[in-house]
Amino acid sequence: MHSNLWVEETFEDFLGLKFKVEKVLFSGKSEFQTVDVVETKGHGKMLLNDGLIMVTERDEFAYHDMITHVPLFVHPEPKNVLVIGGGDGGTAREVLRHVNVEKCTMVEIDAMVVNACREHIPQTSSALDHEKMNLVIGDGVKFVKQTKEKFDVIIVDSTDPIGPAAPLFGEEFYQDVFNCLTDDGIVVSQGESSWYALEIQQSLLKVLNAVFPKCYLYSFSNLTYPGGLWSFTFASKKYHPINDFDRQRVSNSKLEFDYYNAALHSASFALPSFAQKGLKGLIEND
Ligand code: SAM
Repeated sequence: MHSNLWVEETFEDFLGLKFKVEKVLFSGKSEFQTVDVVETKGHGKMLLNDGLIMVTERDEFAYHDMITHVPLFVHPEPKNVLVIGGGDGGTAREVLRHVNVEKCTMVEIDAMVVNACREHIPQTSSALDHEKMNLVIGDGVKFVKQTKEKFDVIIVDSTDPIGPAAPLFGEEFYQDVFNCLTDDGIVVSQGESSWYALEIQQSLLKVLNAVFPKCYLYSFSNLTYPGGLWSFTFASKKYHPINDFDRQRVSNSKLEFDYYNAALHSASFALPSFAQKGLKGLIEND
């Protein structure tokens, strides 16, 4: 008998994305959220937190390339990197491909996400035992308030602004992020959908503008998130994401990518006009 199981991610009350499920690999409920890993028909293994798609094996490379390599190729010498959230491990995996990175600290609030991905999605979790990896199970909000360390790049790889991730979109958190960045530090954050979440983008960018001198938004194509076009914010104490980007470093690194490349790096900051209009005064993208 064929399985007739589908997962459906609904957005508000007017949109649903459905994926055919071959097998449920893990289902649990932590103190923070429900955590599911399923084997889908067309997109490989998929992680869902509270029923929302976090990663699929088919397209995770686009998200993880763009959240990681854009700031790590702008900062001239990123040695100490902090990832907040990112429990699937895909962002840390990409950070650790940069040979100049000496340490990658990842602060994920939910051990169940990390354990489920370690067991069922090695594609993303493969670098979690890397010798340069410092995995902390804890609240990223508390971590940035308390740490005495300084980071060159901070990557906020969070869920949507609900539950424990809500403070990750607030001003107090970004003030603490600013304080634990080096003098030329960069923070990149999961920036939601330009199609469906303009208000969240506006609010996040207002917060970033209150704290950082330079704020930008860049986007990429994500196959499995509602609307397809997804964004990251880029806030910086010093560097411009295009003018201070030396494309030669990408070829010198000898790294190979399936999504990121030097041309796309700069092009990703060119936004569709509707997004530019909606974010007028909040971003420095030309
Ligand atoms: N790529 C994903 C997306 O945008 O849908 C996000 C990936 S990752 C799985 C997001 C992680 O952020 C979740 O595992 C969640 O537990 C974690 N998270 C949420 N709030 C957090 C907090 N306050 N501190 C640390 N991690 C947090």
